[in-house]
Amino acid sequence: MATQPTDYARGNAHPARMLAPVIRQSRYGTVESERVPWFLIILALTVSLAVNAAVLSSMLLIPFTGSTSDSQQKDLTVIKGDVEDEVKKDDLTNDEEGLNPAVPSNLNMERVEPVTVPGTEKKDEAPGIPGAPEARPVNIPPPPGIGNLGTGGGIDSLIKGKGSTVGTPGGVTDILMRAGGFGGRSGSTRQQMLEEYGGTKASEAAVGMGLQWLARHQAPDGHWSLDNFRVYGQCNCTESGQNQDIAATAFGVLPFLGAGETHKGNPDSKGKYQKTVDKALRYLILKQSASGDFSSGSAEMYAHGLAAIAICEAYGLTSDPRLKGPAQRAINFIVHSQSRQGGWSYNAPCTGHDTSVGGWELMALKSGQMAGLEVPSSTIERAKKWLDDVAEPDGSQYAYQFRGQQISRSTCAVGLLCREYIQWGPRNPSLRKGVKHLLEPDNLPGKQRDMYYYYYATQVMHHFGGEAWQRWNPLMRDYLVATQDKGTTPKHQHQRGSWDPAGDVWKIQGGRLMVTSLSVLTLEVYYRHLPLYRRDMGGGKK
Ligand SMILES: [Zn+2]
Repeated sequence: MATQPTDYARGNAHPARMLAPVIRQSRYGTVESERVPWFLIILALTVSLAVNAAVLSSMLLIPFTGSTSDSQQKDLTVIKGDVEDEVKKDDLTNDEEGLNPAVPSNLNMERVEPVTVPGTEKKDEAPGIPGAPEARPVNIPPPPGIGNLGTGGGIDSLIKGKGSTVGTPGGVTDILMRAGGFGGRSGSTRQQMLEEYGGTKASEAAVGMGLQWLARHQAPDGHWSLDNFRVYGQCNCTESGQNQDIAATAFGVLPFLGAGETHKGNPDSKGKYQKTVDKALRYLILKQSASGDFSSGSAEMYAHGLAAIAICEAYGLTSDPRLKGPAQRAINFIVHSQSRQGGWSYNAPCTGHDTSVGGWELMALKSGQMAGLEVPSSTIERAKKWLDDVAEPDGSQYAYQFRGQQISRSTCAVGLLCREYIQWGPRNPSLRKGVKHLLEPDNLPGKQRDMYYYYYATQVMHHFGGEAWQRWNPLMRDYLVATQDKGTTPKHQHQRGSWDPAGDVWKIQGGRLMVTSLSVLTLEVYYRHLPLYRRDMGGGKK
């Protein structure tokens, strides 16, 4: 900046030099005519040049130098301000009110009321609105497919106004409930599911009678027994199974939960089984070890998986905070006992994999997920390895412990249901082939009694939907309705509502209690789990 005026002066000097010869030429003529001495002419010329240059420079340069000095002034002002801010330091000796504990503030004022905000007058009373119902569990919409139905799903509700913002069906006006979730177990949704999926009055009556039989055989402390149920029923009902009270209690309570009966009561039935479920849940929680194991530390995964499903479902249905800890611990125990091969075996810590046990564990994990509990995605990912290990190369059939073993239709159904829940969509060719296998004449309901197989296969078909379900459902439903004990067996009227396990593959292990439980659960398939795929759901279809 300091050189700028000089530069401008130099620039302006050129016109002055050009003017000089012109002046000189005219002065020559003037000098010659007036005869003025040369030194005077040179003096006058020098003075004139100096004055002209000074005037011209001042006229041209004043605006520039003026503005330059102004901006310099501004720059200086800004810099000066910054420097001042940096230099300024907090006054650490500040004794403003609130900073100095010695200075009293308005919070130290004497209270004239026992509380500072409006609240309960009785200290022992729980906060909140007395008598208000607890919040219903929140249904989280599944990830919507964009454009197509995709493999994730949920159902369209009759209640408009909530739901996913993307994808069809669902869209912006329909509620979407979590695929496979518990949202269909009561109220209008249950009625809709029954109608759309082929339940009947007879099948619902069979469920009702089944629940009555189960309730009549519960022990006073809330548990059920596979072998001693007649002691608690004070009856002569036949067909005991083997001793396993944890599994029996899960088998006992699951059909109630499947029908939407919880320890909080069900408005649909006016809380008919509220105490039954409450006692069962209390019993199970009492038996849970600190590690989360429900089998009292004996780590029997089969029993634990079943009990875990019950607790997770009860939590998912009620959001009761008292169940959250036991349910999460039950999930954690399954997570921690998973074998290196990705599956589960009879006892924890698990080695290798047993498809039957694994099926219960995986269903417990999915129930936990549906209830909003934490289930590591890595556990689910590793479970796929177990399924791959026991599957036939085409993925349609599943062995009990390793590929190459004799294939059983039960383990096929378990494997396919697991695939539906964690991996495959309805267009998967392996799933389609597997479903076709389950629909072969010998595997259809009623051909060979196998309630455990029916329970899983019915769920596979329910989620798969379409023609497979249309074929399977009437056979399964009517078979169960027909074979239920109607209380007409001479001298054994107490068996009314149960299913005789005679001829069933699992008669010895599970007896009447397990077969009855699985039969009721199978008849609850319409609403117990919302379908994983939405192929048949009729949002707008009627
Ligand atoms: Zn009985």
